[in-house]
This record gives sequence, structure tokens and C-alpha cells, in this order.
Amino acid sequence: MKKIRLKKNEERRLLAGHQWVFSNEILEADPAIETGEVVSLYSFSRQFLGIGFFNRHSLIAFRHLSWHDEPIDKAFFLRRLEAALQLRRRLYPDSETNTYRLVHAESDRLPGLIVDRFADVLSVQTFSAGMEQRLDEICAALETLLAPKAIVIRNESELRKLEGLSLYQRIASGTVDAPIEIFDADLTYQVDVLRGHKTGFFLDQRENRKRIRKFAYHQRVLDVFCSDGGFALNALRAGAAEVVAMDSSADALARARCNAARNGFSQLETIEADAFDYLAKLLERKAQFDLIILDPPSLTKSKKTLQTAVHAYRKLNRLAMGLLRPGGILATASCSHHLTEEMFVQMLAKAAQDAARCIQILEQSTQAPDHPILPAMPETRYLKFALLYVQPAS
Ligand code: SAH
Repeated sequence: MKKIRLKKNEERRLLAGHQWVFSNEILEADPAIETGEVVSLYSFSRQFLGIGFFNRHSLIAFRHLSWHDEPIDKAFFLRRLEAALQLRRRLYPDSETNTYRLVHAESDRLPGLIVDRFADVLSVQTFSAGMEQRLDEICAALETLLAPKAIVIRNESELRKLEGLSLYQRIASGTVDAPIEIFDADLTYQVDVLRGHKTGFFLDQRENRKRIRKFAYHQRVLDVFCSDGGFALNALRAGAAEVVAMDSSADALARARCNAARNGFSQLETIEADAFDYLAKLLERKAQFDLIILDPPSLTKSKKTLQTAVHAYRKLNRLAMGLLRPGGILATASCSHHLTEEMFVQMLAKAAQDAARCIQILEQSTQAPDHPILPAMPETRYLKFALLYVQPAS
């Protein structure tokens, strides 16, 4: 196996549980290593540190796979997938739901691999060259483990370009002839695994969607960035009087309406608009809501644009706070891992000041447990969520 060697002291983060080596931390790498090849890693003092994928064209040059020298083959993937499945079965038994994130990349020791299960269909994404090249073995292991009706590869994320990977979508096995029906927390949804955002449906907010239920009964609710209507439907299940759901995607809104109808709800109004414009317009019209959900897409994918993103988050939250009646609830989120929990809370405090509101944080949480967090790898904690009680400043 070809080798790479680290600069002095650069093994410390890895030994603490992180799984990446950045390109500037490498002292020497065999020039013949091909992109995505499995290599062995050595410290400056030539201590063996395990094996992993190498990609000299990526800032994340090495992704750790194992502390032992072992073949990275179908049997390896099967072992890792079995471990991931065992956890999901405990978290989300079949009687409660038929959907979960089966593999959350580094969190499940499968760097750069995402697998979501939607009923009997699996939706897969790869974000590392090493995983991309081993998709056949991964799919074979998934077949052995779960015998899915179909496996869909949704490799359309722009983030793949960081690894020099192209963007595409394909069906690796089986057929997908109709939307898939999933159920979770007493609601059913139709998931379009070919056209839905990312892998088809956002599972990371599943627990937070339940959190808003206790504030929704008989209330007037606004779900901003509603996508397929996850929050809106939970509000309706909890007895909301009226729910307005908005998104800039007409397709997402069509799915939200369809999901509301299949669950027997008629109180959903959908609005296709840009959230910034629409919230400002509502404020001008002096509209008021009892509960507002604000779940924007990641407003920054890099550290460079973080400040601009913070301003955008602040503006959105200021507008939403202004639209709440006294004693209203704001459920607000950020899925950008560059924005830390501390920055998120600071941003909320500033938004409250801008809106002349006094806010109390009732609950703070993160992504659902089928997206586990590694304490040594802050990148694996990306979702920030807060429930705020909003009063006029006094
Ligand atoms: N709340 C959703 C997930 C939201 S994902 C859930 O629980 O599943 C973010 C959504 O924001 C996407 O559906 C996207 O279409 C929408 N979006 C992106 N930019 C927008 C904008 N400027 N205005 C309104 N919606 C936008």
C-alpha cells in the first residue's frame, strides 16, 4: 500500500477522533498515488496511523477509514453498514417510521457517504472520490443488507466539485416508478426520490418538527422555507387553525399541498415567493401570526461568505419576530456548520434588538439522532434550532 507521512505534530487531531488530514498537514506523499486510492498514514516519527482515502486535489486530502490495515471491499462496507443499521433500528423502530438516514458519512465511519432510507428505496450521495469509486461495492453491500426495491444515486450536490467529482443522477438498481410513501410521527408524506431536494426529503428536522406541535393548537402558523411541508403538516396534526406555507420552489409547494391532502388537512395555504421579499411585504401589511417557522437553506457554504450570511439570517429573524403577536413563538434554524451555536444565539439577540422584541429561548436543539454528532469533529454538528418566546420589548 502506498504511503503518506504527516508533518510534525499533525497527528494530534486525528488521535483525538477527527477523521480528516488537510493538504497542508502532509509532509510527503508517494507521487504515484491515484485520486481516491486507499493509502496508509504515518506520523512524522513514522508511527502507523491507519488507512484512508487520498485525494491530492482536495483540501481534505486524507479521510480516515480504519486503524488497521484491512481491505476496503464489500465485506468492509457491509460491516460498517450493519453497525449503522443497528443504531437506526434502535432509534426508529419499523412500527414508528419507515424512513431514516442510514449513513451519515464520517459520523458512521464512512467518510463522504450519505444513505437515506425511504420505505424500500435507498437514496445515496457520495462526497469523496474514494467513496465515488467504490459505489459498486457499496451498492452490493446495501443489496445484501436490505434488499431494497431500488437504489438511487443523487450525486447532484455542488460540494462534489471540491473533490473534483462531476454532478449526475442515476438509478443504480431496481426501478422507481412512482413517488414513495413514507410515514413518521403519525403523518404520511410522498417523497420524490428523483426530483426532491438533496436525497429527496429532509430528515434532519424530524424531531424539531415534533417540538413545534405543542405550540400549534388553534394557532395561526407561518412556515417559511416549507419545502415539502414537514413543519406545516406537524402544526396541522397538532390542531393549528390555519397554516400558511411558503417556498420559492413551485415543485416543493405542489408536494406540500399533496402531502396535506393525503393527511386529510384542508387548512393549508401555499405561497410561492422569495422569503425575504414576502416577509417584508407581510410586515408592511401588519400581518400577525402566533407561530412562525424559519428553516432557510444554508446561506453560506464557506467561511468567506459567513458575514454576509449572518446578516441575511439576522434580517430573516428580525422580520419574523416583527410578524409575531405578543407571546408568539419563533422556531428558527440554521443548517450552515460554519455558523456556530454561539454565533447563532448572538445573531438572534441582535435580530430581537432590531425588531424591538424581547426573546426568551425555550429550547435549543440540533439535527435528529439518525444524523449523529462526533464530539471530536465539529463539522458533524451542523444544524442549529431554537424555540423562542417573543414579546414586545418593554
Ligand atoms: N423546512 C423544510 C426544509 C427547508 S429546505 C422541511 O422541514 O423539510 C430550504 C427550502 O428553502 C427549500 O425548499 C428551497 O426551495 C427554499 N428556498 C431557498 N431559497 C429561498 C428563498 N429565497 N425564498 C423562499 N424559499 C427559498
